[in-house]
Amino acid sequence: MKQSHIRNFAIIAHIDHGKSTLADQIMALTQTVSVREQHAQLLDDMTVEQAHGVTVKARTVRNYYQADDGQEYEYNLIDTPGHVDFNYEVAKSLAATEGAILLVDATQGVQAQTIANYRIAKQRQLTLIPVLNKVDLPSADIDAALAQLNDLDSAFTPEQVLQISAKTGQGVPAVLEAIKQRLPAPKGNLHQPLKALVFDSLYDPYQGVIAYVRLIDGQLKSQQALRLMQGQQDFNGKTIGVFAPQMHPQESLSAGDVGYVATGIKDPRKVRVGDTLTSVATPTQRPLAGYQPAKSMAFAGLYPKNNDYPALKEAVQKLNLNDPSFTYVEERSEALGVGFRCGFLGTFHLQIIRERLHDEYGVDVLTTAPNVTYHVTLTNGQQVIVNNPVQFPAFSLIKEVTEPFMKAEITMPADNLNAVLKLAEQHKGTLIDLANSGDLIVASLKIPLSEIAYHFFSELKSVSHGFASLSTAFMANEVSDLVKVEVDINYAPVDALTFIVHREDAPNMTQQLVANLKTTVPRQLYPTPVQARVEGKVIARVDVPPLRKNAAVNGEQHSTSKKAALLRRQSANKRRASKNTIKLPQSVFNAILSL
Ligand code: GDP
Ligand code: MG
Repeated sequence: MKQSHIRNFAIIAHIDHGKSTLADQIMALTQTVSVREQHAQLLDDMTVEQAHGVTVKARTVRNYYQADDGQEYEYNLIDTPGHVDFNYEVAKSLAATEGAILLVDATQGVQAQTIANYRIAKQRQLTLIPVLNKVDLPSADIDAALAQLNDLDSAFTPEQVLQISAKTGQGVPAVLEAIKQRLPAPKGNLHQPLKALVFDSLYDPYQGVIAYVRLIDGQLKSQQALRLMQGQQDFNGKTIGVFAPQMHPQESLSAGDVGYVATGIKDPRKVRVGDTLTSVATPTQRPLAGYQPAKSMAFAGLYPKNNDYPALKEAVQKLNLNDPSFTYVEERSEALGVGFRCGFLGTFHLQIIRERLHDEYGVDVLTTAPNVTYHVTLTNGQQVIVNNPVQFPAFSLIKEVTEPFMKAEITMPADNLNAVLKLAEQHKGTLIDLANSGDLIVASLKIPLSEIAYHFFSELKSVSHGFASLSTAFMANEVSDLVKVEVDINYAPVDALTFIVHREDAPNMTQQLVANLKTTVPRQLYPTPVQARVEGKVIARVDVPPLRKNAAVNGEQHSTSKKAALLRRQSANKRRASKNTIKLPQSVFNAILSL
């Protein structure tokens, strides 16, 4: 296909605004997918994606479009994920395109992720086609949404905005024509040495790493000697091809095309997203500017529920190949045995991984409370990076601790402002800026990641009755007053329950924690004391009642000697507990999560 007849684009939108539905419509209209093959939401083929209705891993599909001018065009559609945890995947996908459809649900209007995605696209100097979706719904407020779009970008005039229903197909043919007319064709040089961007990858047990590539210059042929420039890795390309939407082998790919190369490389770390692919025979002189790899933001321990460590190990290895933004290192907990300390983009990502472990590998895990990364400076000047609270140094050795702070942008209707600012203050947020975007207010805050990693999002939804949305980006590590909380059950420390908290929150949180543990720690034959310690002092304590009635209380039913024997046994139990033998259920860890 001539470059002038190629269009590479993505669809960007706030979650649930209809990206997948529109992608399906486009594939149906271009007959990429026959009616027989068509089932709901073709691009979302992972079970978790269907359960959550979100797109996790970016996909790409080649379509052929018969335009009104009678000519055929190649439309490469790159699907992007829609959740705040996955901004990284959005940036990766957009790097391979010249333009994007900015899709807005007409019943909801411009939302935080609309704005966040818009900004990423603008940074990449992409051409945007604004589209209002769901105009078939009676609750659609088209005028309001048009005004918001115009506020977002003065180029989005009502005449420029297309109005569609991705569900019924109304207006979608106009979108296909606009892609041809408004988006630029790729501009690479076919006669230059091969230069291609690796923008995603997938691991296949038989073919090794499959690299998703966008050709900038030159040509790519199957069975060619190829080079990854950053990874300094040469290999012989196996098959090459396009996704339509299944893998379709081709003889060659040319400048402007999007497709895949089966590399045969078995180590996925050698094929880095952002790397430049070129040919060994005539390599390009200048590699492309790559992008930053995703950074794990939240960490948690994953332990096998039924002691099946080998199954968990195999599953996390495979998941990491498929999703390199999920990381793992082996760790050992006294309470839980051998497991993994895993890194996630955020807590939603953690939830997705848990479900994928269950759905795709049949592995159920115990998850410890997630934490962020702390940088600790010791009094002797040494620096320690802590991803596991257990490794947080003793307080007497610490000079200073820093934690990650985020810039959080909350977009909301004006009447939610007070409630939202109050919530932000409770979470140690400080206001940086307030701006208007039409009827919406955008509050920019500086807030510790540890404060927004867990429940902040759902609390925000709740105080704003569902109207506020959140977008976050890393700002800097800054000093905070943090302490380590250790939990003893039956006088023995339980390492897996250790967590880090802001000092001022420690008294309240530990009181609530021990109250929660009172009902979740499995009852024993003897009363089980549970206590929380900070800097060597017990600051909260509770006794988990015994399974049986206490001999000392119900003594009159027993003979005096029997009662004495029971009491002896109970206090012996107490003394013996240097190591914990109580098996802890997930509910115990949830007791921390629910604080
Ligand atoms: P995504 O999260 O952006 O991929 O959104 P989906 O494509 O999964 O759509 C979210 C929900 O909105 C689904 O229940 C769709 O059926 C529905 N939906 C999408 N487009 C339309 C539309 O044009 N009209 C109506 N009525 N519903 C739509
Ligand atoms: Mg989707």
